Amino acid sequence: MTLKNKILKTIEEAAKSKHRKFKLAAIVWQGSKVIGIGHNHYNIDFATKPGKRKGGIHAEALAIVRANSNKAKWKHTIITVARVGKRGNILEAKPCKDCMRLIEKMGIDKVYWTTERK
Ligand SMILES: [Zn+2]
Repeated sequence: MTLKNKILKTIEEAAKSKHRKFKLAAIVWQGSKVIGIGHNHYNIDFATKPGKRKGGIHAEALAIVRANSNKAKWKHTIITVARVGKRGNILEAKPCKDCMRLIEKMGIDKVYWTTERK
């Protein structure tokens, strides 16, 4: 599966998020295999400060937790993160500092996220 297809798949998953405003999904891949997938948690409080998401679990962290429970060996893994708007438009999905740290800690080779087209 090409990187483009992996990102398209992540966008599809993001669109399935039940969150009304922040539709996010993250997928951990090992080759073409999905080893962990996470959608944003509904309880995340986005209202306080942009970029400061308190409570709940981020899509990236959830994907990693699920990949971990799948006993993935964390070799040659990448993570893709996508966010879509209400109308299916693609938005910026750069992981926050905490998620970036977690991604690094797990030894994931690369992280790709969607950006808003202006
Ligand atoms: Zn995060």
